[in-house]
Amino acid sequence: MARTDLRRAVPRTDVVLADPRLAEAHTRFGREVLKRAVHAAQQEVRSGALVPEGVVEAVLATLGRRPSSLRPVLNATGVVLHTNLGRAPLSAAATEAITLAAGYTDVEYDVHTGARARRGAAATTALRNAVPAAQDALVVNNGAAALVLAATALAAGRKIIVSRGELVEIGDGFRIPELIASTGARLHEVGTTNRTNIADYAAALGPDTGFILKVHPSNFAVRGFTSAVSVRELAGLGVPVVADIGSGLLRPEPSLPTEPDAQSWLAEGATVVTASGDKLLGGPQAGLVLGEGETVHQLRKHPLARALRVDKLTLAAFEATLTSAEPTPVTRALHADADTLRARADRIARELAQHGVCAEVVASDGVVGGGGAPEERLPGWAVALPQAYAELLRVGEPCVVGRVEDGRCLLDPRCIPDSDDERLILAVRACA
Ligand SMILES: *Cc1c(COP(=O)(O)O)cnc(C)c1O
Repeated sequence: MARTDLRRAVPRTDVVLADPRLAEAHTRFGREVLKRAVHAAQQEVRSGALVPEGVVEAVLATLGRRPSSLRPVLNATGVVLHTNLGRAPLSAAATEAITLAAGYTDVEYDVHTGARARRGAAATTALRNAVPAAQDALVVNNGAAALVLAATALAAGRKIIVSRGELVEIGDGFRIPELIASTGARLHEVGTTNRTNIADYAAALGPDTGFILKVHPSNFAVRGFTSAVSVRELAGLGVPVVADIGSGLLRPEPSLPTEPDAQSWLAEGATVVTASGDKLLGGPQAGLVLGEGETVHQLRKHPLARALRVDKLTLAAFEATLTSAEPTPVTRALHADADTLRARADRIARELAQHGVCAEVVASDGVVGGGGAPEERLPGWAVALPQAYAELLRVGEPCVVGRVEDGRCLLDPRCIPDSDDERLILAVRACA
């Protein structure tokens, strides 16, 4: 068709909007959202990418059947905490808690007295129960927020002493030193990239010291001629120690011996520990502050705490994550047994081969990811497909994200619940 014909063939907006096939979408998404989708489809007709008769179908496809544009993903990467895929998947208990808290809920209300109650008290109680060394706890928006709050409340206009070996970039260009500097606290760097000792810290102490910051270098490892100062030694210097463990382990995890945990660092004498909620803890995005009662209270009362507070859905999911007896999906993926993973990969590959898909099983290590235990390999197995599958699977339904390696598309079952193996097989077959 010539350009002018194409333009003339574009169905009018009011005609499309009146189409009965769009009635349900109209109720659900409202007129504005619907109109935007119609305009996009009309544009496609103008460019020749869509036939005029396809507009209604295209609008329905754009809006999809999901209430938001975020699509569920089968994570076949073998990366347990994949930041681009939303880090920790929530447990069934946490998901149910979110649904229950979605409407009106007593997040800040005492049903017995009918009076206002402390917001999120149950979540902080659950945290204190999980970490006996913490006298008090606070939940904020994320790990970065916990650090910013500590720096602002305890050291604005004063000095924070930190080792040059712990000036970490968290990811996506965000750096802890810049984060701290944005609060008005002054960073005083001590030691070198590979070695810092207690005398370096001691020499930097002064009347304007707010605290010593200890940061766990969670997403990289330095090896060779290295030394760092333990929390126990730092605590002996007589100024508060704020320790950022990052990954959110509350107690020691024997399978991840290099990851610090809140209980141990508090027991060593840290004044407060900060951490993320959606890394190894396996909960919703949140930042945790745990530790000495007066200090946590000071942070809770700081005006910035109001700006960093979490919503009722986070509180609900967080409490459920901590109190549920069931292991979180993160724990399950971390501890997935290599033989079981092999059996699953074998079965998936066999079924695919029966349907003519060129699939074989290969050894493939998973990783913790998300800035945790960077050196730890999690032994496992994956189904290897020709590389072309990678893109087809990403844009398919359900969306499957695999790992491209050596010209192949690897599908690692580690982070996929085994109840979803069948969906994975169907997704691959749909691409074949
Ligand atoms: C991940 C991480 C952070 C940031 O936590 P977010 O929850 O992503 O804001 C801070 N410090 C360390 C050491 C981390 O690993």
